[in-house]
Amino acid sequence: MSSFKDRQSTRKSQADHRPHKHKAIDALKAQGFSDVAYRLRDCGPRNYCGSQYCSDCRKRLVACQTQKVFGVYRDLYGHDEAKGRKNVYFVTILNELCELEPEQVKAALSRGKRSLSALRRSFDGLLTYGRFELEAVDTHVIFGDRPCPKKAVVLRQLNGDSEQTPARVMGLFHLHGLLFLNDHDAKLVRRKLSTMHPGKHRVELRQLYTDTPVDESLRKIVSYFLKSRVQFNYVMKTDGYQNGRLIDNDSLSRLVRFGLTDGIDVGSFNVYSKR
Ligand SMILES: [Zn+2]
Repeated sequence: MSSFKDRQSTRKSQADHRPHKHKAIDALKAQGFSDVAYRLRDCGPRNYCGSQYCSDCRKRLVACQTQKVFGVYRDLYGHDEAKGRKNVYFVTILNELCELEPEQVKAALSRGKRSLSALRRSFDGLLTYGRFELEAVDTHVIFGDRPCPKKAVVLRQLNGDSEQTPARVMGLFHLHGLLFLNDHDAKLVRRKLSTMHPGKHRVELRQLYTDTPVDESLRKIVSYFLKSRVQFNYVMKTDGYQNGRLIDNDSLSRLVRFGLTDGIDVGSFNVYSKR
């Protein structure tokens, strides 16, 4: 017979491995948003919930975006892999730190989209595809316990060089995208992005990995655009969330509701270029 302690830890690990959708539903219910919770729970062919916390809907969103990106890639470069690899870059931009409030997220979205338009205006024919994302950030841990000096520096500069924030949990509003350079010099594009988003570690621009086939790279990147997190990430490393505690119900329910209610459509986080 297992000891009480064993049973506790088993129960904890079972709880930790439930699908994201269940955690999202629990958070929504706990915060009094049962209508949205039932929309996720009752998701099906007749009424898809559209949340990226729902694995079925997430798969559909990823397939749709992947299709679009593949289409653009094939139109532009066909089977000329050398040309494709020279022109396709993966970009991450840390835009701003905002409260997890609809009006602030809407404003961050429109600023983020304006900065991409400005980039495209500066480089004729450059195309941007991707998705804006909000990462819930526990500022008490980042600035208090300081598990990652680099993350503290980055968030501090995004917060007007201050460690005082209006709420404990803030949203790190950022973009993951693909740039199709249209033969523009990547160095000049990087310089322009760094001028538009000054500060340390705010802009990351890199080519596709050479040891992975292009289509596989694109598929993985698009899937990464649409990830959903239920744990905090206290460090800069992408997989750092695995050691973070579960996001509190209030913050998680806010993240789930962005894109479903609050006057923000799930598609408004997407970035597509007009061609
Ligand atoms: Zn769904």
